Amino acid sequence: MLDSILGSLRVVALATKTDFRSVTSREVALFEGPMGWGEFCPFLEYSYSESVPWLTSAIEAAFVPAPPGFRQEIAVNATLPALDNAQDIQGLLDSYPGCTVIKVKVGGDPVKDMERLGIIRSLRPDAKIRIDVNGLWSVDEAASFLNTVGDIEYAEQPCATVEELRELKKRTHVKIVGDEVIRKAKDPFALDLSEAVDIVMLKVAPLGGITRAIEIAQHHNLPVVVSSALESAVGISYGLKLASALPILEFACGLGTGSLLAVDVAQLPIINGMIAVSDVRPDNSVLNKLAVSNERLNWWKNRLRMTWNAGAESFVQERGWSA
Ligand SMILES: [Mg+2]
Repeated sequence: MLDSILGSLRVVALATKTDFRSVTSREVALFEGPMGWGEFCPFLEYSYSESVPWLTSAIEAAFVPAPPGFRQEIAVNATLPALDNAQDIQGLLDSYPGCTVIKVKVGGDPVKDMERLGIIRSLRPDAKIRIDVNGLWSVDEAASFLNTVGDIEYAEQPCATVEELRELKKRTHVKIVGDEVIRKAKDPFALDLSEAVDIVMLKVAPLGGITRAIEIAQHHNLPVVVSSALESAVGISYGLKLASALPILEFACGLGTGSLLAVDVAQLPIINGMIAVSDVRPDNSVLNKLAVSNERLNWWKNRLRMTWNAGAESFVQERGWSA
């Protein structure tokens, strides 16, 4: 299987429209299997062992038939990085046509965070707002922000640890979503999320694929939201298949992040706030145009081999997946 993956591997660099989590160019590795294309795209600083689930997700996409879906279109939210200028915010919001839920990055300067939410509320008074803090707040900071922010749908990962989230829940009525606490856990099945998290964030790549993401959701038995990890259209299409495969899906999904990219390998348009579930084939001319240097391609091939050896191969064997 490894040879087959390396044989079709293409690596592209996708420029982002704005700085997102300090990312301004997103490198992703794509390969083709009998079931279609898979995307291997752990952020550059991730270790081989942290990259294992990203590879097993890409392998599942390319080699394992997707489970049956419950829906053909997925409602998505607008995702806004920590922009402060009203015109920039307006410009980016316009790239999410029909989206009525807006997820906003906060967790820096709380005054600027509140101003950002104020601008968004004045631009889109009817939108539901959710915030993502990426674990940056202490319990005190989180409690004081959440108890003065007004109406929001939920707060994603306001503090870093399960213990802090449990402490915070005693001090606020705002619903708490667990993201990093689950996807960065050594064993997401060993976590006790009770009284700490109301909703589980499911990201198909960092959780190791559709099968494992659904197992994690079933294990914790909480409502879920599906989001991206800033993938290309290939990876997003797999997140859409996860969202489609969930029997209950109450929340808009963070799968509209293609709008944060200046270029993409295929079209996956948002229409009336929804994206259609489909098999995405990257455009060959775009793959050629956006291809990274030979040096970067070799770096990714080595990363993929090392990640395979660091645990992806044994996961694939355990699951009985074959080429
Ligand atoms: Mg998050």
